[in-house]
Amino acid sequence: MRSAQPKRIGRKPPMTDTVPAAAPATAKTQCRFCFESDEEEDATNPLVDPCDCKGSARYVHWNCLRRWAHTNPNLNGRHCKVCNAAFHVNLFPTLEVIPEEGGVSLSSLILEYTTMTTLVLQFLYTLAHVKLSDGALSDGEAWQLILQMQSVIHVLYSICFAMNWRVQNRKIYMALVQHSRIPHTLLAHAGALYFIVAYQSVWMCIVTHALLSRYWVEHKRVLIFMNREFLTDR
Ligand SMILES: [Zn+2]
Ligand SMILES: [Zn+2]
Repeated sequence: MRSAQPKRIGRKPPMTDTVPAAAPATAKTQCRFCFESDEEEDATNPLVDPCDCKGSARYVHWNCLRRWAHTNPNLNGRHCKVCNAAFHVNLFPTLEVIPEEGGVSLSSLILEYTTMTTLVLQFLYTLAHVKLSDGALSDGEAWQLILQMQSVIHVLYSICFAMNWRVQNRKIYMALVQHSRIPHTLLAHAGALYFIVAYQSVWMCIVTHALLSRYWVEHKRVLIFMNREFLTDR
């Protein structure tokens, strides 16, 4: 009597949301769908082994597999039809929502126009202070008001950023951020904050706000790049 195939239970294969690493080039590797080998290296379309199949059916192009899966999303496009194993690569990553396309909100306007927001808030705050104290401000008082507004705008910016943070594919995002201008922007921002405190530089206040806006622009740029290069159906 033949015993039934042991069922794979328990541990699910780890899902990855990046383009998987190419298969080692030692074996004679050929795509099971298009029958082309991996002679010319293509980092965005490597040959991968996504399931338990062995032999000539083992390898498949990342893009060939994704095209196939996207034409059969309901026909069990997440499992191999031959060996029945779940693919251990995520073939259906969620597209990133670009904040602008989600509609303009007050928080997204504050992120976009941080410098303008600060200047308006600073003006109103100083005006209210002068009215309430019923007199002119000394230099020391004026600087105190500017520093207070610096704290307020940074807290406000952080809240607005958190409200608009909706990154789905975090591994890809974090990998791309390292190669974007975001680390430099954050470093320059920290430097500008130091100059504000150490040298009481009003101009550096404006620079910090410009850099905060820049950070928002770069964040959106990374999301757009992700959608175009990594997450679209190709
Ligand atoms: Zn192929
Ligand atoms: Zn298989």
